[in-house]
Amino acid sequence: MPEAPEINNVSEYDCCGSNSSLDGKNKKALQFIEDVTSNADEVQRRVLAEILSHSAHVEYLQRHGLNGCTDQETFKKVVPVVTYEDLKPEIDRIANGDASQILCSQPISEFLTSSGTSGGERKLMPTIEEELERRSLLYSLLMPVMNQCVPGLDKGKGMYFLFIKSEAKTPGGLVARPVLTSYYKSSHFIDRPYDPYTNYTSPNETILCPDSYQSMYSQLLCGLYQNTQVLRVGAVFASGFIRALKFLEKNWLLLCNDIRSGTLDPKITDSSVREAVMKILEPNPGLADFIEAECGKDSWSGIITRLWPNTKYIDVIVTGTMSQYIPTLDYYSNGLPLVCTMYASSECYFGLNLNPLCKPSEVSYTLIPTMCYYEFLPVNRKSGFNESFSKPVFLNDKENQDLVDLVDVKLGQEYELIVTTYAGLYRYRVGDILRVAGFKNKAPQFNFVCRKNVVLSIDSDKTDEVELQNAVKNAANNLLSFDASLTEYTSYADSSTVPGHYVLYWEISLSRATPIPPSVFEDCCLTVEESFNSVYRQGRVSDKSIGPLEIKIVESGTFDSLMDYAVGQGASINQYKAPRCVKYAPIVELLNSKVVANYFSPKCPKWAPGHKQWLAED
Ligand code: AMP
Repeated sequence: MPEAPEINNVSEYDCCGSNSSLDGKNKKALQFIEDVTSNADEVQRRVLAEILSHSAHVEYLQRHGLNGCTDQETFKKVVPVVTYEDLKPEIDRIANGDASQILCSQPISEFLTSSGTSGGERKLMPTIEEELERRSLLYSLLMPVMNQCVPGLDKGKGMYFLFIKSEAKTPGGLVARPVLTSYYKSSHFIDRPYDPYTNYTSPNETILCPDSYQSMYSQLLCGLYQNTQVLRVGAVFASGFIRALKFLEKNWLLLCNDIRSGTLDPKITDSSVREAVMKILEPNPGLADFIEAECGKDSWSGIITRLWPNTKYIDVIVTGTMSQYIPTLDYYSNGLPLVCTMYASSECYFGLNLNPLCKPSEVSYTLIPTMCYYEFLPVNRKSGFNESFSKPVFLNDKENQDLVDLVDVKLGQEYELIVTTYAGLYRYRVGDILRVAGFKNKAPQFNFVCRKNVVLSIDSDKTDEVELQNAVKNAANNLLSFDASLTEYTSYADSSTVPGHYVLYWEISLSRATPIPPSVFEDCCLTVEESFNSVYRQGRVSDKSIGPLEIKIVESGTFDSLMDYAVGQGASINQYKAPRCVKYAPIVELLNSKVVANYFSPKCPKWAPGHKQWLAED
């Protein structure tokens, strides 16, 4: 297998970064991509053999009778394709402190809490120490690729809004936290050697500050203060970047005061943040005046290019549900390129975009064959007013064996991604649907199509149709004592507000003339929110990345009009079902034109870090 490039060796740099050794490192990284994609089939076979030989004695594989075999054929014959629910007993044992070799021969170092949920709680992905190296490797490939399209990025800084989230301990004492929190707190990030490509405006202390207000404030302050050095800006997801701009809209006067006087607002109480920021900040009245003048203008169109004039692109994920934020980003940036660099998950990091300046709608990710062993389940998606998947939840023996290997996928076909990882997931269904857009050598490049079953998403929350249905049912119970009932509903992820929020359109039938008090509908909003999973509730309570849920009551007959519209567009009248989520602008407009009243959740739902069952055990 081609070696990973050694691009973390500081001695290869001089301090300006613009030298031949930087070129050498870039070349090495690109050569690595060339090599692993050209030999994708061999690399994949070797990755599988390596994983299976390491884990020859783990309980899970022994139970399935793999008997130490490391070849693809036997593996596909005896090891089943699984979902998180299938692995939950094993995961629970690990969480409860069983340190035996259940899934992996190496010690589980921590759990990564995925934004996917199971039973309303975040999924727990076991991980091992060496996975951090694999993640770092993928990160180290991004800038050499970017450098081919936008040279000179080593001459300035990146303004990235990066945050950590709360962490919890499992009853067995393992830390459980999101993958990025784990990465930012690791020595791979904190002690990274000087590298012009990971030279950020935010000092580590501001990123590692657990208080989200202080973290955001100090990162924005440092970004504004170093405005002319900034060559690229970004966050992980588009929603996070827009949140930072909204924060700026609310707080620019305070920030400018700090820049003018070279002091830090007393609300920033974290001493390590204060110390780190004060090392950078000096009084700069001219810059403060400039920022005040720009922020004080009526229009914020192009504010990014006005405040950070040397910015070449915005580095944020706008594929998948995040595409809803593209118009807002275009407005704030005067149409700067939106760059989606990588595709990753808590289970494993997968791949990167080799053509980063392409349009968001054309983004494809090349899966790096050394990250894990990939398989693909062909899916036939029916799109239209109701999107559905023709694949059952359970696969029969033949389907289990007939998954397609990385190098055998077909151009244009859609697949569900299935991975076998070094950390102990075997033939695990990630839940993402990908479409083959092309090939880099032998390795396919995939468009991200969607997350299976997810109907609503604003930030990292993912709400599926069943969850929505249950939540709406719980809430509609509040109407019963008024002799009213819910006749139809649908939903919409409204990203025109910041933060975005969920909207439910309700058509109700009343058998009494007495009106239902607004407080009842507000209770309905809150009941829906209380019924949602912990990722949604965390977004509302802790991250403040989701706004209060809104119920819009529509006039009676609205859902009939919706059907008429769908049939008029070619939907079959026999098969028509009201969509449980709408995205298509003319339909949203139609629904909005029928709204007779609207109500918001009056407060945040309940949420606490950690899983419900662990809290109960404390
Ligand atoms: P998590 O496990 O919480 O880290 O979430 C991982 C999921 O986020 C993936 O399985 C995808 O559904 C989604 N995701 C990650 N990267 C991208 C991307 N570049 N474009 C679209 N969706 C993504």
